[in-house]
Amino acid sequence: MKLSPNHNPTEPSDLLIRMHNQVGAAVDVTGGTVGEASRWNCHGCGDRSSFTDHLGTIRLRAGQHAEFCRAAYQRIR
Ligand SMILES: [Zn+2]
Repeated sequence: MKLSPNHNPTEPSDLLIRMHNQVGAAVDVTGGTVGEASRWNCHGCGDRSSFTDHLGTIRLRAGQHAEFCRAAYQRIR
């Protein structure tokens, strides 16, 4: 299995949590910890939250995504 080259991309200044998907691509939770201020994005497939939400909700969704995502790299902008 080829591992993702996006294992350790530059950390955004508002990075809260970094997880990794099935092939090691970073899945970042960013934003704030108070209110509906957090979001997530996957460096493997390019998927991301479509809106901000509470950190607990975003952390759960990011974790669920990381569990099944097998994408190593994307060029979607
Ligand atoms: Zn993904």
